[in-house]
Amino acid sequence: MSQLRVVVWGENVHEKENELVAEIYPKGMHTVIAEGLEERGGDGIEVSTATLQEPEHGLTEERLDATDVLIWWGHRAHGQVDDEVVDRIQKRVLQGMGLIVLHSGHYSKIFKRLMGTTCSITWREAGEKERLWVCNPGHPIAAGIDRYFELPNTEMYGEPFAVPAPEEQVFVSWFEGGEVFRSGCCWRRGNGKIFYFRPGHETYPIFYDDNVRRVIHNAVQWARPQGLWIDSCPNIPVEKAPEKIEEKGPKLHKPGDEGYK
Ligand code: ZN
Repeated sequence: MSQLRVVVWGENVHEKENELVAEIYPKGMHTVIAEGLEERGGDGIEVSTATLQEPEHGLTEERLDATDVLIWWGHRAHGQVDDEVVDRIQKRVLQGMGLIVLHSGHYSKIFKRLMGTTCSITWREAGEKERLWVCNPGHPIAAGIDRYFELPNTEMYGEPFAVPAPEEQVFVSWFEGGEVFRSGCCWRRGNGKIFYFRPGHETYPIFYDDNVRRVIHNAVQWARPQGLWIDSCPNIPVEKAPEKIEEKGPKLHKPGDEGYK
């Protein structure tokens, strides 16, 4: 199989402005997520990072054209992401690029765009325990995970999670406070595969967790583009149709033509 080119995109704001976050992630969350992938790596995964602060957020047309799977972490600065870059990512997903959205990325412009809903949740920051149950042990994203795994301290996300019904449910979380949440969900948009994975609040060392890293590593392989890089619904004019047919019945007409209704 050809090389899998993964870009980890980080907003990289909390790491610079919050002492606690800077202590946990001195090189930024995106770097730690990338290191987690490289550590498991195996053959054929090529990882790089991009951040909000770079020109075009590090996601030029050229860069995206050379990206198979994009990982997205954002929180405070969703509004600062350029709409042109969002358009570009959406187009690339429809063509077949995989997208992994982490934690507070549920409110990112690109995730809301692709879901078409508010993507709202309920939440509480109390450092409580989260237990992530595997819904389908046969799913490739759950490979190597036991019946469940736990994170000792997390921010809670609860239902309702305002997203379209996932096409596949990989994890469901239970929290110490009693809430539950669909914490690992899959969709397809066009030719692209999308995976949302809940853990990852910036004030906890969650991206160092072995199970979290395993899930992200599984997910990038699951989201690998399949087939051709083409628009899923190309707009092909009639002159390019394989069969030429004589016009029968009323002539093709357009607004302004005589008889157009
Ligand atoms: Zn959070």
